[in-house]
Amino acid sequence: MKIHDLLIVGAGLAGMRAALAAPPQLDVALVSKVHPVRSHSVAAQGGINAALGENDSWEAHALDTAKGGHYLGDQDAIEAMCREAPADILELERMGVIFSRDEQGRIAQRPFGGAGFPRACYAADRTGHAILHTMYEQLMKRGCQVYEEWYVTSLIVEDGICRGVIAWDIVRGGLHAIGAKAVVLATGGSGRVFHTSTNAVINTGDGMALAYRAGVPLEDMEFVQFHPTTLKDTGILITEGARGEGAYLLNTLGERFMKKYAPEQMELATRSTVSLAIGQEILEGRGIDGCVLLDLRHLGRQKILERLPQIRQLSVEFAGVDPIESPIPIRPGAHYQMGGVKTTIWGETSMPGLYAAGECACVSVHGANRLGGNSLLETIVFGRRAGQKAAEYSATVRPRALPDAALKREEVHLLRLMDNRGSERAWQVRDALGTVMSTNLGIFRTTQSMTDALKEIRELQFRAEAVRLQDKGKIFNTDLVQAFELSCLVEIAETIVAGALAREESRGAHYRPDFPKRDDGKWLKHTLATKTADGPALTYAPVAITRFPPR
Ligand SMILES: Cc1cc2nc3c(=O)[nH]c(=O)nc-3n(C[C@H](O)[C@H](O)[C@H](O)COP(=O)(O)OP(=O)(O)OC[C@H]3O[C@@H](n4cnc5c(N)ncnc54)[C@H](O)[C@@H]3O)c2cc1C
Repeated sequence: MKIHDLLIVGAGLAGMRAALAAPPQLDVALVSKVHPVRSHSVAAQGGINAALGENDSWEAHALDTAKGGHYLGDQDAIEAMCREAPADILELERMGVIFSRDEQGRIAQRPFGGAGFPRACYAADRTGHAILHTMYEQLMKRGCQVYEEWYVTSLIVEDGICRGVIAWDIVRGGLHAIGAKAVVLATGGSGRVFHTSTNAVINTGDGMALAYRAGVPLEDMEFVQFHPTTLKDTGILITEGARGEGAYLLNTLGERFMKKYAPEQMELATRSTVSLAIGQEILEGRGIDGCVLLDLRHLGRQKILERLPQIRQLSVEFAGVDPIESPIPIRPGAHYQMGGVKTTIWGETSMPGLYAAGECACVSVHGANRLGGNSLLETIVFGRRAGQKAAEYSATVRPRALPDAALKREEVHLLRLMDNRGSERAWQVRDALGTVMSTNLGIFRTTQSMTDALKEIRELQFRAEAVRLQDKGKIFNTDLVQAFELSCLVEIAETIVAGALAREESRGAHYRPDFPKRDDGKWLKHTLATKTADGPALTYAPVAITRFPPR
């Protein structure tokens, strides 16, 4: 049995950055349920923030981030991220990332919502693609082992310490224990809890569920970002970079309605503000077939082709609209999980030996609403930090034989799953869950809608346990992987709803018409969800405030 120095679950940007941060003499391995460059990071479009401009400063970036997150972000973490961002971007450039350039040949930066300065560095509208591929080259150069297309089903925990993972080899079949002195979770988001989402189908919150089941608390799960501009039927994202380049939002009367909601920032207000405004316009009958319009025509053909080629292609192929000629019908869609596995600013969780970084973690820098371009940045800064810290810790651990109880337990669970005689398939329960969440926990949340959702989710958890696998084989059994993923989705959904129902205020992405005001007196605090037999137990923790008092 091999014991790695460092095992990273997830090969998106956070995972790869963590791997590259470890000293080269360490034995570092990654596990990923898909080929690394198919991780959702590849889909990131608009940009990655860093205060590179002469008149910009990391302090200004930090203030925008704290304010944009409605002061729920921990300011020590925000400061670390914004201060370290410029050096991290330059390091990415040295690794070979092909950032777009300005006239002087410097890294170009575009304006993004909630940012007081053009701060998003980009590679056209394929920023994630450019960074992820470069990072993968570096990973190959370093010779890290990748367990490619392996699905992690649980953590190996002994005496409260994380000692590795149990994983299913998707290609060949078979459950295996993989030992490690330290484990970093970098498993990305959980957007597929919702029916329509900008997220890849693989974003099922697995790492959050792994940690939660092992007794590690999840933080601020109720804060789910709805991106203002997604295509109607598919939920495909149209980057904020479009508005950054100057696109307008119009209602059915042809009005730029943002002037009513955010007269100064207009289309570049924070995402929660723009999403709520769009929701309100549609609710009051000024929408068009459940959407409003995103108009790029005045940008002109050349700029669209040069700066936004991918979203043009996406809207032609998936909405039948060429933005050079017509406005694109868009509406808000589930996009990003601000919450996640609670960590320190070094990626440490409450369990020794277990670290987390990227979208699956909650450091927390985004608070109640993430600014565009800050998530890619989070994966790089905190991926690096978690990798460094986990490597240091691994040097203090002496290797020893793994306990075999964890593998045996998973084998029993697998046999039971294979034998299930229920009538439903995993996709049916997943669809039902998505509908419950999209209907009841969208941009407007009421006590009634959330109470209904909680009740239904508890039933769906039983149904998820009983799903029938049609494929009983070992080789590339996607039916089985879907059942694993479903068990994570129903667990994560419950933590979102429980946290949201308890939080009797409106803040950022969490909007309740029955409690429409932000209430700092009672609710300027983090929600922590810990698993119990009766569902999530909620406790609260203070927010770190350093230099920006809440306004
Ligand atoms: C369409 C879209 C556009 C975006 N655009 C931007 C943008 O312009 N700027 C910005 O800042 N942010 C953007 N975001 C958000 C940002 O891209 C993500 O938050 C970030 O890339 C997440 O990176 P990650 O490394 O945490 O996870 P991911 O890139 O999602 O990687 C997760 C990894 O975990 C692995 N994994 C998961 N579960 C398991 C399991 N059980 N076993 C084994 N492996 C597992 C997966 O295989 C994958 O390798 C966008 C998001 C979307 C969806």
